[in-house]
Amino acid sequence: MDDYALVLNAGSSSLKFCVYRRPDESRWQLEARGQIEGIGTTPRFSAKNDAGGTLIDERLDQAVADGSAALDALASWLRGCYGGAHILGVGHRVVHGGPSYSGPVVVTPEVITALKALQPLAPLHQPYNVAAIEAVAERLPSVPQVACFDTSFHRQQPAVAELVPLPQAIRDAGVQRYGFHGLSYEYIASVLPEAAPEIADGRVIVAHLGSGASLCALWCRRSVDSTLGFTALDGLCMGTRPGSVDPGVILHLFQGLGLSAKEVETILYKQSGLLGISGVSNDMRDLLASDAPAARLAVDYFVYQAAKQFGALAAVLGGVDGIVFTAGIGEHSAPIRRRLCEACAWLGVRLDKEANRTHRPRISAPDSPVSAWVIPTNEELMIARHTGVLLEISGTRA
Ligand code: ADP
Repeated sequence: MDDYALVLNAGSSSLKFCVYRRPDESRWQLEARGQIEGIGTTPRFSAKNDAGGTLIDERLDQAVADGSAALDALASWLRGCYGGAHILGVGHRVVHGGPSYSGPVVVTPEVITALKALQPLAPLHQPYNVAAIEAVAERLPSVPQVACFDTSFHRQQPAVAELVPLPQAIRDAGVQRYGFHGLSYEYIASVLPEAAPEIADGRVIVAHLGSGASLCALWCRRSVDSTLGFTALDGLCMGTRPGSVDPGVILHLFQGLGLSAKEVETILYKQSGLLGISGVSNDMRDLLASDAPAARLAVDYFVYQAAKQFGALAAVLGGVDGIVFTAGIGEHSAPIRRRLCEACAWLGVRLDKEANRTHRPRISAPDSPVSAWVIPTNEELMIARHTGVLLEISGTRA
């Protein structure tokens, strides 16, 4: 009987999932990808198969008011579709692994305690990730679980890249640069030898440009620096997050404008970035289609800030051999890739406009000193791979 793995990515109002089947030791075949959205408001369950065919798309009862009820709805659908299948394990996307988890771990009660202790470092995500692990443990106590972290891939960075230059006592309390989008960067690093062999062992800047956005400097497929830091607010301008802001501005929000911590949190996570600048949308597609001056300014700032950070990471690497675009904007927006490649011309990037327009994997001209690539990311597959490998190694099988 084939092994199956369930991958879960639990958020505050959504539960995203993938079901993978492993027909042989080296391959994970996607069977279903879906989500329960609107948890607590208007819950909706949708899932598609690998070919994009709809498996389910329906509204759920209002009683699906929290993550635990959403998991029950998912479990009952999974039983109907895959009842009797052997579940090798459940892999979770967990935003924060703190300073010590430099790779995925098999979940134990001690791991759950450690992950709960990290909740103050990622209050908007970590509690939901941990709640999903606990809910699965309650319902399927014999099925092993694996926690895969967005921070782990960056844990081999040099000390200077991780440092937040504040007093020792504050640093001792966990204040350092962690970096995020690590599962995405790890996936890209894992496919580079096949997808872009001539740069795989070199100096590469990967641009993960989705609703959250960051850059990662890879040296020999290892992360040496990234633009996200202590939280997922730093660096590039994002859909609703500002990216780098003078910390004095945040002090002014408290001391000058008298805003509360909750208000400042909402501004920083939900009302800034592309949405804050444009006043109309956090979606790059809407902004590119608009003639409104504020929408243009938002796009200009996104490109300006990303280009600036390309320069910073190029300095860290001491030069660049290749750049890679991934995630929603990186994979699908030819105009943004064109503008960023043009901004990186000084680094040696020469764009092949036709290759870029048609979303080919290699979008730089054949004689470009620095090559440019489009490689679709797959964080869920990375989690399924980790889950399989770790459970085999540890001998933890359901
Ligand atoms: P997330 O970061 O939430 O995982 P994605 O990586 O899928 O999501 O990125 C989503 C974002 O990608 C959308 O908000 C949208 O701005 C952008 N996007 C998707 N397709 C396009 C496109 N064709 N052109 C421009 N932007 C796009």
